[in-house]
Amino acid sequence: MEVTNCKNCGRLFNYVSGQRICDACKQKAEEKFQEVKQYLEKNPHDSIDAVAKETDVQVKQIKAWIREERLILSYPSADGIVCEKCGKPICSGKLCEACKKDMANSLADAFRKPEEPKPEKPKKDNKNRMRFLDHK
Ligand SMILES: [Zn+2]
Ligand SMILES: [Zn+2]
Repeated sequence: MEVTNCKNCGRLFNYVSGQRICDACKQKAEEKFQEVKQYLEKNPHDSIDAVAKETDVQVKQIKAWIREERLILSYPSADGIVCEKCGKPICSGKLCEACKKDMANSLADAFRKPEEPKPEKPKKDNKNRMRFLDHK
């Protein structure tokens, strides 16, 4: 355990793990998260900007929650978040379905790529051959 300053409020606190944010700020953030979540449930068609204004949370923070898939938009929109690869509006996470599939495929390729290592010749064989050559 170490004592460090909270990244959010600057207060000293006992840091254990994860983000360097004190318990009070963590709790506040969690309350804000619940507020945003409930607001989104009641107003599924509001843009992120509107949600941010209504709940007094930064747009950046809301988008971070969506990227973490803690929040899911009810419909994809260009002023929400977009796929990091192709720029298509998405509801949550980092990639659209198509790019997720692409990613999975290329990952599978990456695993398939390395050619099977050729089985090494048993060392015993070599030794025998050496001995044979020696005798010659
Ligand atoms: Zn704090
Ligand atoms: Zn995409």
